[in-house]
Amino acid sequence: MVQSSLARSRRQLPALREELERQRDFREEQLAHLLAHDEIRTSPSGHEPHAADDDGSRALREIRGLVAVGARQALADIELALARMDDGTYGRCRACDSAIAPAVLTAIPATTLCPACQVGTEP
Ligand SMILES: [Zn+2]
Repeated sequence: MVQSSLARSRRQLPALREELERQRDFREEQLAHLLAHDEIRTSPSGHEPHAADDDGSRALREIRGLVAVGARQALADIELALARMDDGTYGRCRACDSAIAPAVLTAIPATTLCPACQVGTEP
């Protein structure tokens, strides 16, 4: 009996959805925490209007800014994956429409790209 990987990922869905919702809660909390402790201004130019800070707090703020950017990106991925679960396209690559291996989905539930397309989008 042949079982497609898509059928297998469907069976994994409840567990993956639970994991994604857990990760979403974590990211939302992380972002709220970062924003509460710092006014992160992600200005498109990245230009600082004044440089009164010493290097230490400036570096720290830059790190917090990077963490916030990463957390926002992760949250966007998670929300996209959850939306694809709702419309039934979860488990398929959003770029080339091939099935994503269940092992990949288990390892990275938020992924909506197959490994081949993932490599193509990495900076
Ligand atoms: Zn693909």
